[in-house]
Amino acid sequence: MNRQILLDNHPRGDLQHSDFKHIDGEKPSPGEGEVLVQTLYLALEPAMKGWMENRSDYVAPMKIGDVMRGNGTGRILESNNPDLPVGTVVAGAWGWQEYAVVGGKSSPVHALPEGLPIPTAMALLGTTGLTAYFGMLDVGEPVAGDAVLVSGAAGATGSVAGQIAKLKGCRVVGLAGSQEKCDWLVNELGFDGAINYRDDDVNAQVKELFPKGINVFYDNVGGEILDIALANLAQHARIVICGGISRYNLTGEIPGPKNYFNLVFKSSRMQGFILFDYQDRYPEAVAFLKDGYLSGDIKSQETITEGFEYMPDALMGLFSGSNTGKQLVHVAD
Ligand code: NAP
Repeated sequence: MNRQILLDNHPRGDLQHSDFKHIDGEKPSPGEGEVLVQTLYLALEPAMKGWMENRSDYVAPMKIGDVMRGNGTGRILESNNPDLPVGTVVAGAWGWQEYAVVGGKSSPVHALPEGLPIPTAMALLGTTGLTAYFGMLDVGEPVAGDAVLVSGAAGATGSVAGQIAKLKGCRVVGLAGSQEKCDWLVNELGFDGAINYRDDDVNAQVKELFPKGINVFYDNVGGEILDIALANLAQHARIVICGGISRYNLTGEIPGPKNYFNLVFKSSRMQGFILFDYQDRYPEAVAFLKDGYLSGDIKSQETITEGFEYMPDALMGLFSGSNTGKQLVHVAD
């Protein structure tokens, strides 16, 4: 059998178990030029919530009954494609299912870069590591001596973005949702400071830790935190809008940033980006991140949930902060 998880409901507000349908499908057979993969790990991302909602976005919304969309890694069990021999570990976007036929034109896969454990390759050399690389370096343009604030700093993207800014010679402070995560940022990743946004007075802490203002704000959260950063900018600051997880579960009208006019007073800019803009340059980012990991300059953290059936729980956990680093689900050995 092939266990699959389908979209059963377009969610409103917080995700519910009833938004997902678990079914036993048939194990598929590969056609010409295709391969059969067995899923080893699946990756979770907050953006999945947006794909599940019935609204147009930067990608087409999912339809009820679709296999949940997402990236994974798997091992090739059967092959009708000489470029993809049996046993190869590949990465692709075949979604939440234990087996899939891929490798044809509509479902490309690529061999996972070698030399790193599979979860590390998925985290650091996958979507979120690449997002951190292009968002921080191309949009944030950090220079040595800059004071950098990262929100969602203990998550997959934020933890890598902060480490990249450190490598550029910046002073980096992270925002995270628990003291444990703050300690991890400082003690394990070498951040210069961390603010627990749930318990601390964030505005007072930002003022204290950024006496000359923020040069680069890498934002994964939006909302109140974005407003506090806007109120504490240095001259010619750069705000990188990577994500806005604080708004993903809101219903009704979403408030805009009230302090945006400081961009004028501080001659600063705020810019969003989508990783896909940088597709042509993925090899550059993979080489940088892989070298950084192998030399010990960049650390990767994964939170691995055991069991395919817990995919919905793992996705929901991103919104309550149950992950540190990249959230993955281990499906098979
Ligand atoms: P992640 O940071 O690993 O996981 C989400 C984290 O967000 C949680 O661990 C939680 O940590 C924090 N969080 C959840 N709800 C929050 C809230 N209401 N306020 C503040 N923090 C909250 O996820 P990720 O995959 O790395 O994604 C991070 C952001 O980047 C997301 O917004 C995502 O959509 C965006 N993204 C953008 C692109 C792009 O191309 N622009 C690509 C990938 C991802 P705490 O315990 O600290 O609260």
